[in-house]
Amino acid sequence: MISIRCKLALACALWAAVATSAAAFELYGERWRDGRATIYGNIEQSTGSGKPWNAALVQAADAWNDVVPGFRLDVNGRFSDPCAGITEPEDNFFNGVAFKPTDCGIPFNDGTLAINVSYIDEPGGFIVESDTVFNSNVDWDIYSGPLRRDTLDFRRVAAHELGHFSGLDHEDDRLALMNSFVGDVEVPQADDIAGMRSLYPSPDNALVFEHVLEEPLIGEVHSGVGNLRGWAVASDGIDRVEMWLNGRFLFEMPTGGDRADVAAAFPDIVGAQQSGYSMAFAYSYLGAGTHTMTARAYTTQGAMAASSSTFSVVTLDKNFIPASDEVATDAATCELGGDEIELFDVFIDDRVYDLLLKWRTAEQGFEIIEIR
Ligand SMILES: [Zn+2]
Repeated sequence: MISIRCKLALACALWAAVATSAAAFELYGERWRDGRATIYGNIEQSTGSGKPWNAALVQAADAWNDVVPGFRLDVNGRFSDPCAGITEPEDNFFNGVAFKPTDCGIPFNDGTLAINVSYIDEPGGFIVESDTVFNSNVDWDIYSGPLRRDTLDFRRVAAHELGHFSGLDHEDDRLALMNSFVGDVEVPQADDIAGMRSLYPSPDNALVFEHVLEEPLIGEVHSGVGNLRGWAVASDGIDRVEMWLNGRFLFEMPTGGDRADVAAAFPDIVGAQQSGYSMAFAYSYLGAGTHTMTARAYTTQGAMAASSSTFSVVTLDKNFIPASDEVATDAATCELGGDEIELFDVFIDDRVYDLLLKWRTAEQGFEIIEIR
């Protein structure tokens, strides 16, 4: 039994804001059986600016091919009428692409740029044909950069339609090529790629989820203001990182820090370059004693990986020494050895302390690890 999945319209509008909620890519639930499909694209001639439509169609297909090893979209230079459907005339399940003034005889709705219709062999089965009609009443060209209001970019709309062709539904909760409104996105984004890879897994994109809280250092002593940092990568993308102290939620960590080292270690993971998180953190406010900091990283699909560090904090009598408080080492003496500096009789805010400082690689500096 062959059934028509549904008709999908990509409406023409500019988006106003980028949403960042937790929801992510949407799937129809059907896919191509063998992880590959051929598009019969032979759109003759070129744009008004002289660019060939077919080359843009191939580039749109390669935008997916380059990032989804489990799926292959081939563009065949033969024509197949997308309105031929699968029956009349019988076209052997060729996946047609063409510009048309109507949606196979039905007027396009206002703002509709293209229509993709997919056929599945049975409910819950596999896609057997997928046809795409581009609205020829629209002023099309091929270009990169921000979407122009006067002329649509065929290549990015074609890449979007190929997402439907492959089994992706619209996704409007985060920035994606599969957003239902065309905009500045030209190629698959992390969310699109994660969706496609979940439809077409391959050994090359086996799920990866790694998370490391790097500071506070496990078993070490922290004082004053120091770093709170780490990194997290996941095949389906990191949604957020939460910090918890001694079992209580503290705050959501700013993410997106540049980490070339992590990108080098996970070259196939989208977003690994921006996998870092880091912020200055006032350890002294935690109070002297032992604490446990736990970072919880969540993927866009809701998986969680925690990374914890139990560490100690030493403090002066005040949590914060303002600029108005006097700090003086005039009467102090010191003892040096190895990577430590011990200072005796340091005057800080009307009190006298002995301080032990130790070199910390992670911080690239000396940190106070003992206060007496
Ligand atoms: Zn669409």
